[in-house]
Amino acid sequence: MKVIAKLGCEEVAIVYIAETNDGRRFEFVESVEPPIPREKKWVGIVSTLFGCPVRCPICDAGINYSGKLSCDEILFQIDYLVRQRFPDGRIPVEKWKIQFARMGDPAFNINVLDVLEALPERYDAPGLMPSISTIAPKGTDGFFTRLLELKRRLFPERFQFQFSIHSTNHEIRRRLIPVNSWSFSEMAEYGEELFNQKGRKITLNFALIKGIPIDPDVLVRYFNPDVFLIKITPLNPNLSVAKNGLNCRFTCTKEREKIVSDLKSVGYDVIVSLGELEENAIGSNCGQYVSSVENEMSSNRDVYTYLPEVILDSVENTPFCHSREDRNPDREFSSQPTKLIS
Ligand code: SF4
Repeated sequence: MKVIAKLGCEEVAIVYIAETNDGRRFEFVESVEPPIPREKKWVGIVSTLFGCPVRCPICDAGINYSGKLSCDEILFQIDYLVRQRFPDGRIPVEKWKIQFARMGDPAFNINVLDVLEALPERYDAPGLMPSISTIAPKGTDGFFTRLLELKRRLFPERFQFQFSIHSTNHEIRRRLIPVNSWSFSEMAEYGEELFNQKGRKITLNFALIKGIPIDPDVLVRYFNPDVFLIKITPLNPNLSVAKNGLNCRFTCTKEREKIVSDLKSVGYDVIVSLGELEENAIGSNCGQYVSSVENEMSSNRDVYTYLPEVILDSVENTPFCHSREDRNPDREFSSQPTKLIS
């Protein structure tokens, strides 16, 4: 397993492309949120599947699917990011967010739970904040049951959980997320169980798409505003969005403000998350997947415009310490951080 290329910029986000020994590729990302310095907030976004079987029309990760990443393959991504910035495995960042959200819905891969189990022992990171975002596919109850137990035990207050919903209309939601997924009642019931008064509210995410309804009255019938908050995000530009003729309505300020005010009027906290526009050019945003342009040039000049830099001397990533006893701050790290050729 090795990292073969990277693209992006230090000040916003870097996408890494890695390859397994049998030639399968996956991507992971590190990003910051200017002007917030890296010491305050640092985000790692890792893949959990090779592609995604759901194939949402708003996402390029679904272009191919070829299986699940192992626990080691997921940890490889986190280790690699840590090694670039904090070679001794101590991460003195106030909020170090690890999102399982690059390629694949994490609920399809039970190995994600082994990764969550490993994280607190693997790194000295008081600011660690795992983040799970899911469409809640049917047939994955085992994942969610164990997640509930694990979250309560290891991350009672420092954990983010999000359901990606996109529309309150069932038929339309089914077209945007083309697999069987939990009903709103099932999501509400699980969210209430997962919620901790001292932690963050459970997020309901909507990518704002032209012509796609979001009805606050439907939401409030199922989701208690004391437990759930709403996050609205842009529909990030990518090949799938262009092919499917979808348009973002986030940029229309009037429409966006109306939605926000309607949601607030029924009691919800609303987070409006624009992110960095430069991330679209890099291809590091949600729903983007830079390897998707390998055989297909982007016709949108604002998207996927960074060229990958090939990493010529990539070395095997050695694992981080596995127990607190191994964590001697004075010891030399046993291998050199991977050197990147720019
Ligand atoms: S949005 Fe999520 S569930 Fe849908 S194809 Fe992309 S990774 Fe899969």
